[in-house]
Amino acid sequence: TILGPNYGKEDKVLVSIRIRPTTSAHPAWDHSAQRTIKLFPQYAKSTATTPPEFNFDEVITGSENRPVYNAVARGHVCAAMDGYNSIIFAYGQTASGKTFTLSGTEDQPGIIPRAMKDVFGYIRRTPTREYLLRCSYLEIYNETIYDLLAPPSMSAAQPVQIQGSGILVPLREEVVTSLKSVKEVLERGERNRRTASTDWNERSSRSHSVFRLVVESRERGEKRSETPSGRQTPGTRPPTPGGPRLQTIGGRSVQTSVLSLIDLAGSEKATSDKERTREGKYINTSLLTLGSVIGTLAENAAKNKNDHVPYRNSKLTRLLQPSLSGDARISVICTINPDATAVAESTSTLLFAQRIK
Ligand code: ADP
Ligand code: MG
Repeated sequence: TILGPNYGKEDKVLVSIRIRPTTSAHPAWDHSAQRTIKLFPQYAKSTATTPPEFNFDEVITGSENRPVYNAVARGHVCAAMDGYNSIIFAYGQTASGKTFTLSGTEDQPGIIPRAMKDVFGYIRRTPTREYLLRCSYLEIYNETIYDLLAPPSMSAAQPVQIQGSGILVPLREEVVTSLKSVKEVLERGERNRRTASTDWNERSSRSHSVFRLVVESRERGEKRSETPSGRQTPGTRPPTPGGPRLQTIGGRSVQTSVLSLIDLAGSEKATSDKERTREGKYINTSLLTLGSVIGTLAENAAKNKNDHVPYRNSKLTRLLQPSLSGDARISVICTINPDATAVAESTSTLLFAQRIK
């Protein structure tokens, strides 16, 4: 089985911390207890207050990406194959390890390549169903959504709009049939992302990137009915509470779900005048909105409440609204740099993580 330990977990939101390796001899954070992270007293702002201490679903150290995938992503990938919308976020300050965690390197593949490998493994092991996979790749920069699978000039001239029902127009969705074809699509997206910006480092730390895989499946039967492609279904229909999304086409029910893997913009506070511009403001607003949306969803689920969820306050949450509402499985991996120089930003990341728990 490829089910992870957190599959079927009662909690709506799985919140974990990943601490990247440090070059300094004395990290500022104590992680001697399994799910706990606390600040060593000498790094606290004042000796008068107790240094902050936090508990999470997982706190993971090290440079190995496999344990991270197994602990906080695998279950969500399985859930997506079973028909549930699933979203995995990487949140943290620039250089804390978001991209390392999600994309990884040749030696240490991250969540995205591991997820895709598992998706095709799952399909091979499920011969009773047939699957249709489509992927799209988007970048949200300054509250504008760019299609990374379209040529940069085209996507700049005609950014993606979110229509009333949540459908994205225009959007390229590529049908993928193998690990190799997903890899090609991802590489094309990365190339377009680099070409689109004059200052790639700056832009990549200031934008969100969203990789989406739409999974459609149905029981295999003798009678072939028309394939439900050609129209857009990615989690855009109202969710069916309490179970996977089912739709009947040609007499056989089609199950649709979306797996979204999101590398968020750097969470750091604006430090220079240049950063205190429009962009910095947009990023903070959209990360703030993401925090309140996930926080409200978790709270609604835990307390069986129905509080208003502020999806409309940012493009990112608006884009994810069809996936987030209903019975989505959400995993938020917060990455921190344990160095003393980053204590303020790491504390703010841990507070964000605590707020959405
Ligand atoms: P971010 O995407 O948050 O800006 P990156 O993922 O690009 O940060 O990480 C910055 C640098 O640190 C990269 O060179 C990356 O390979 C390295 N790095 C980050 N996290 C780890 C880790 N857990 N183990 C080893 N190297 C890491
Ligand atoms: Mg990055």
